Parts: sequence; C-alpha cells; structure tokens
Amino acid sequence: MEFSFNIPTSIFFGRGAIQRNASALVLGSRAYIVTGKSSGRVSGALSDVERVLNTHSIPYEVFEGVGNNPEVEQCKELGAKARAFGADFIVGIGGGSPLDAAKAVAVFAANDVEPEVLFANKYEHILPIAAVATTSGTGSEATPWSVLTWHKIKTKMSFGALNSFPRVAFLDPSYTDSLPLNVTRDTAFDAFTHCFESVISMKASPMTDAVNFYALSRFGKLMEPLEKGELDGIRDELMLISLLGGIGIANTGTTLMHAMGYPLTYFKNVPHGRANAFVLPAYLAELKNNRPQRLNEALHALGVSYEALVAYVKRCYPFDVQAQKDELTLWAEQTVAKNPHKTTGTSNDAAHIWSLYEMLF
Ligand code: NAP
Ligand code: FE
Repeated sequence: MEFSFNIPTSIFFGRGAIQRNASALVLGSRAYIVTGKSSGRVSGALSDVERVLNTHSIPYEVFEGVGNNPEVEQCKELGAKARAFGADFIVGIGGGSPLDAAKAVAVFAANDVEPEVLFANKYEHILPIAAVATTSGTGSEATPWSVLTWHKIKTKMSFGALNSFPRVAFLDPSYTDSLPLNVTRDTAFDAFTHCFESVISMKASPMTDAVNFYALSRFGKLMEPLEKGELDGIRDELMLISLLGGIGIANTGTTLMHAMGYPLTYFKNVPHGRANAFVLPAYLAELKNNRPQRLNEALHALGVSYEALVAYVKRCYPFDVQAQKDELTLWAEQTVAKNPHKTTGTSNDAAHIWSLYEMLF
C-alpha cells in the first residue's frame, strides 16, 4: 500500500466560527479581501471579517465584484491592486467563484506573471489565504484548486499545488441561509459529485475513501429534503459534505464528469453543479462498463440504486440545453485534453467521448 494525503488548511467549522476563532483569520498586517457582487454582504460573512480586521487594527481593501466562473484576466488585475495596496494576505469570501479567484489573486499579488505561468504552477510565491465559504458546494476552502475561465483557450482551466491550499478556512453554515433553493441544489450536487468522483478516481486512497464513503452515506439522507426544498435543518450537513468532498478532491482531483461538465458551463452558461448533474447519466453509463465494482461501492454508500440516481437527477435537474453535433466535437476534444483515462480509468478517445455527449442530447 502506498499513498500520500494532504490537508494543510486549518479548518474552523460551525455557527459563529469566525467570532470564536478571530485571531486565526489574521494572517498578516494588511489584507486584501476578494468577494462576490453580493455574496459577502448578504451572507453576513463580510461584516464578520471586517469586524475582526478592525478589532485587530489591520488595514484592508475590499473588492466586491468577482463574477461567476471568474476570469483569469480579472484576477491578474486584482493581484496588481492588492500589490499596490501592500497586502500581505488575502481573504476570500464567497462560493467557489470568489474563493478560486482569491487563490489566483494571491499568486498575482506576489508575482507579476502571465496566466501561462499561473496555470503551469511555475510562480515563485503566493500570499497566505484565509477562505470563508458562503456556499456548500465546491469545497474550495479546503482544496488547492482554482478553476478559472481562460478565454484564450475558450474553456476553464485549473491551477493548484501544495502551496495554494488556503492557510485557514472558516465554514459557518449560517452564511448559507441566504442561498436560494436553486443555488442550494446546484451547489449540493457539486459537493456530491466531488465525493462520488473522488471514490471513482484512480488516485483514490484509503484516506480519501474514509472521507468520501462517509460523506456519501450522509448525502444519501439529504436527497429527499433537497428535492422537496425542505432546507431547514440540513444546511450544516450540506456544508460538512462540501468540506469532505473538498478534502477528497484536494487529494484525488475530479474525473470525467467534471471534465465533461466544463464545456456546458463555458459555452451554455450552465451553473457548475447543474452541469455535472446533466452529465451524470453518461458518466454512470461509462462507469457501468468500465469501473463496475467501484461504481457499485459508491452507490452502496449512497444507499441509492443506479436507476434511482438517474431518475433523481432527471427530476431535480431537467436537461434543457440544446447543442448541435459539431459543437459536441469541440467539447469532446476539450474533455480528452483533460486526460480522463488518467483519472477515471476510462477511454481517452475523442470519438468515444463524443458518443457519451450524444447520449445526453
Ligand atoms: P458561485 O459561482 O461562487 O456562486 C453562485 C451564485 O450564488 C452567485 O450568484 C453568488 O453571488 C451566489 N451566492 C454565493 N453565496 C451566497 C449566499 N450565501 N447567499 C446568497 N447568494 C450567494 O458558485 P459555486 O458553485 O460555489 O462555485 C462555482 C465555481 O467554483 C465554478 O467556477 C467552479 O468551476 C468552481 N469549482 C472549484 C472547485 C475547487 O476545488 N476549487 C471545485 C469545483 C468547482 P455572488 O455573485 O455575489 O458571489
Ligand atoms: Fe466541482
């Protein structure tokens, strides 16, 4: 047996996490805060962070305007602003979009480099990051990954290495009380797919299995309340599953389902978690043929049959996207470029991936 496992982020979970652990947020002497257009404010997280910085007399500047699926070019501009301000740490507040942007800003603030250097993980320094989650989905607060839109190659691209894990993460489920039902459902599905794909991944280890099987067994109990829109009482559970999924993919990465979902987000504007839900039936069909044992183990932990899972996503995430056959050719090529054979243990042939997309349309 041989594996490595990293989670160098200090994690503070629970209602009032920031207030109870305020000094852990202070990672330097000048802070640059990166948050979404409204998520920092409506969740209440931004005011909690500002209160701590004011109490500790830490000067700070706030950027409230990271868009969904953040663009690397914007992160480069924000990095320059953080550098000009003299920031020595970054606070990211939001869902995956602001948190992923915060990681790139932490790199660009410390290095005046081009996106190519970022995506090759060839930068020299990175400012320490405090991450405050306001969605229960990406687990970005506990991963080194940052998924950014890069118009130059017309898709989303990730960077991440051991040094881009946030130094500290705060997960306060009360911040997610303001999430609308559709965003709650979409992000919950992202969290679920992280746990599921991390089990399937060729990089799965006993450590990630321990995390992911446990998370799947808890997620199985949330499927019905999520479908009914009965969210009272499950916010804490959803945030825990999001964290566990993040810890899983921090160590295994994602697999074919995420790779196939990115073009739906880039070209059709489908929210990330919903894109994964759309792709799920094709992904499961692929696993049934190629990874049946691992698939069955994941379904067993979830407590849901193959057929019931497909029916669930079709009910909760109706597929309403149109695509022409020639669009699928580009999507299949982009998916193959992400090397699904190395992560999922399945075909890396563009014609085969094309046929999986075609199954969905
Ligand atoms: P998101 O794009 O961060 O946020 C979705 C929407 O929810 C936005 O409109 C946002 O508003 C709003 N929102 C966030 N928190 C809220 C709150 N507490 N109350 C009310 N509204 C709130 O969604 P996400 O699914 O968390 O992140 C998706 C991104 O993460 C994608 O770019 C995806 O590729 C990436 N991702 C990263 C990883 C990783 O490991 N790093 C893994 C999977 C996915 P604002 O616009 O105001 O923020
Ligand atoms: Fe994801």
